[in-house]
Amino acid sequence: MANIQILTKESGDNTTADIQANRKCVVNVDHVRKKYGTTVAVDDVSFSVNEGEIFGIIGPNGAGKTTTVECISGLRRPDSGSVSIYGLSPQQNRDKIRNFLGVQLQESTLPPKIKVGEAVSLFASFYPNPLDPSDLLESLGIGNIKNSTFKKLSGGQKQRLSIALALVGNPKIAILDELTTGLDPEARRETWTLIEGIRNRGVTVILVSHFMDEVERLCDRLALIDHGIVKALDTPEAIAALAGGNRVRFVPSQPVDDKTLYAIPGVNQIERKERYITVKGTGDLAASVINSLGKIGVHLSDIEARGGNLDDAFVKLTRDSDGSNTLGGSQ
Ligand code: ADP
Repeated sequence: MANIQILTKESGDNTTADIQANRKCVVNVDHVRKKYGTTVAVDDVSFSVNEGEIFGIIGPNGAGKTTTVECISGLRRPDSGSVSIYGLSPQQNRDKIRNFLGVQLQESTLPPKIKVGEAVSLFASFYPNPLDPSDLLESLGIGNIKNSTFKKLSGGQKQRLSIALALVGNPKIAILDELTTGLDPEARRETWTLIEGIRNRGVTVILVSHFMDEVERLCDRLALIDHGIVKALDTPEAIAALAGGNRVRFVPSQPVDDKTLYAIPGVNQIERKERYITVKGTGDLAASVINSLGKIGVHLSDIEARGGNLDDAFVKLTRDSDGSNTLGGSQ
């Protein structure tokens, strides 16, 4: 079983850690390795996905994300390590797993003249307990294009259709790869709402993405994969904090020296500009600064706090030895 580090997402009774701890693990990826010839696509990847969560897989182009989800869906056989879905091996139990796993297809796999309704009904016929195609299209907001041919669809409509095809078998787990690539901002937001709706219906979602705003908004937890290895496995907030990007800017009521500021828990960098002091560091920095300085009678005004940034963390964790870094999706 993968060693999952769980950090709390928010304070209060129902922390993410509490929720995660009570959830069942439905997908377990254990030390998976996969080579194509001499290319090591996946070197050593382990993680678990809990029932009902949206689990994101992020990483630079060529990191091994698609190969990892192909091993999960049974399309590829790992050279070593193992995958289990509800306790079953996708390679040995493909027929059983097919009934509760939905995989988003690349759009090029559909013939141009097939109608939307026909495609969904055709896919429904492959499954023992499918959703009603018309109801599904309605719920995805594309009931009105049932009779349109595939080649006439817009990018957003094609994306919705590919989601419909992934869901029509009534899966417990859906794997969605590069869901919103090529969509305009409005279509992307609509698709996000759709994915949240799918999760609210109890479907576990594994989402491969290279958009940090997307995974920040949607995912409960993320695996950041680089060169076939998991570099970080945690909530988006916790991974963002790895960049050390928390910062608090303020104006103190009286001068404060660097020694006092560095003594505040979490502070690891100080900048001064005119009346302003900016401290950078980790943890709940704003509370830490306000409490520590308040205790010595220093009050703060014009306080501005900014959280860690997932983009910065991504770059920091995946920077190549030559300093380059390629954000990008699977081919
Ligand atoms: P990602 O989805 O993160 O972009 P992939 O899993 O698609 O990464 O690819 C990982 C590595 O494996 C890349 O170097 C890619 O070129 C290589 N690769 C992927 N598929 C194949 C294949 N069918 N044959 C040979 N090499 C492949």
